[in-house]
Amino acid sequence: MSTLPPPGEGGAPQTGLPAPEPTIDTRNTRLDDGINRCPRCGATDIQLRPSVGMLVCLFCRHEWAEARLDETIANGDLSTLTGTTIASGAANIAAGVDSVITLKCGGCGAEVVVNTAEQMGARCHWCRHVLTINEQIPNGAVPDAVLPFQITHDAAMTTIREFAGKRRLFADRAFVRDFTPQNVVGVYMPYMVVDANASADVAGFGEVQTRRYTRGTGDNKKTVYDADVFEVQRHVDFTADDLTLEASSARAQMNSAINTNNVINTILPFDTENAVRWNASYLTGFTSEKRDQDVAHTTPELEHQLLSIARAQVESSISGYDRGVRWERERLQVHGTRWVAMYLPVWLYSYYHEKNGTSMVHYIAVNGRTGEVMGSVPVSTPRLVAAALTVGTVIEGIVIAILGAMG
Ligand SMILES: [Zn+2]
Ligand SMILES: [Zn+2]
Repeated sequence: MSTLPPPGEGGAPQTGLPAPEPTIDTRNTRLDDGINRCPRCGATDIQLRPSVGMLVCLFCRHEWAEARLDETIANGDLSTLTGTTIASGAANIAAGVDSVITLKCGGCGAEVVVNTAEQMGARCHWCRHVLTINEQIPNGAVPDAVLPFQITHDAAMTTIREFAGKRRLFADRAFVRDFTPQNVVGVYMPYMVVDANASADVAGFGEVQTRRYTRGTGDNKKTVYDADVFEVQRHVDFTADDLTLEASSARAQMNSAINTNNVINTILPFDTENAVRWNASYLTGFTSEKRDQDVAHTTPELEHQLLSIARAQVESSISGYDRGVRWERERLQVHGTRWVAMYLPVWLYSYYHEKNGTSMVHYIAVNGRTGEVMGSVPVSTPRLVAAALTVGTVIEGIVIAILGAMG
């Protein structure tokens, strides 16, 4: 038998990595006075211009960008990564830290209140300066980095219109009537982006077919296989770069009976290597969802993804077992991890659908970088039947495609 301990006796994946103090400081101290000034004219009316990925000063039109996070933090050889390294924006959320933050205006000294659950900046009502939350408050609202929108609002509306249009024949009449692309909103979603250095051992049984023949006659005829069974063990050392883990409990525990917001997972991946240092001006005109999950909360999902990678890595070495390998024991050893909190850009169109007393929220989501789109469109059964009579046999495939999209 295998030398690996059975599951539950040290063979199970390690859980609950300790969450030490942050060791990478990503604070953008240049902006700590709450005022993000245009480097050319000093104005504070600044926002993202998605088509070029730059911040633009609305006063003098000067354009600039924050540095990529990858360029500002040490990003060495992942195979030497040990321990748990946490960037300051991914630190544990402190209990009792309010969403409501009071900023002292650097222009006139007035105190301006910002509710970080809804926005990351406000205009001083006395001197008209725009104040933004750039200091890393430990309430989950300020990550280490932000991946700016690159797909414009117009492009997102076109994509969503096309997505819904292709399915319009099967969509509910109310959905078709109420479809308003103007309700497409840009949302920054919170994620933990993790690098890891790990090893895994897997053990089980592989089968190689030696003979195949038929037994019995007539209705009792059966095909029988003879196979040699082998004990199989594999060890793999590997690194993973930028694994993307949901850091909002509302997204991680999706109740698909009342909403279908897990569509976000279907528009991954994002080019997280292009994320830039935090600057709240990237959020002007967009909404954001606060992170409420810490390193410890997202560690089980990280281990799950690492084990999947390990299984995929040993796949090529077991092709000789033509009847497959059944893994019975798996052990993951995480040698080192590096955690960065990040906002990722998503265009969202939501639609509230009520039918037979049940209400559902449907979403169409567009990856704010790649334009990848996925969503759920409510399906009206009578219209599907009508279509089936017209289209004939093709309909089965289409129905499956739509149900798949509802995931
Ligand atoms: Zn300017
Ligand atoms: Zn002021």
